[in-house]
Amino acid sequence: MDYKMIPSVCSYCGTGCGVLFQVMDGKLTGTMPMKTHPVNEGKLCIKGWNLHEHVVSDKRLQTPLLKKDGQLQEATWDQAIQTTAGKLKAIIKDHGPDSVGVLASAKITNEENYLAQKFARAVIGTNNVDHCARL
Ligand code: SF4
Repeated sequence: MDYKMIPSVCSYCGTGCGVLFQVMDGKLTGTMPMKTHPVNEGKLCIKGWNLHEHVVSDKRLQTPLLKKDGQLQEATWDQAIQTTAGKLKAIIKDHGPDSVGVLASAKITNEENYLAQKFARAVIGTNNVDHCARL
């Protein structure tokens, strides 16, 4: 049995509690509070205790979906990215960069959220960026 505790930061809100992800034989199995973290000092709220659950949920989407003839159908990542990029370009060309917004997610890492806001500001050219933890 291979057991690891991987340090990270809870992404569900801006408090930034330290967590330890429990990984057993390469599979994420749980979340523990980081006792030595200066923000939470060994405590977590209920969202933090369940931080790993969306990763291991059997309801998690495993592949992109594109709507064709009114129905969602599985697509490749290349198809999904090309379709999204093409539609974003067309909207920005016709209506300007502030006609687009980026809504990030607590279910991605803090680093990915940083990239999402950078994409909004530096690539699209809009400050229309928000995060579900603020909703
Ligand atoms: S454990 Fe709770 S309070 Fe701490 S960052 Fe996560 S959601 Fe926020």
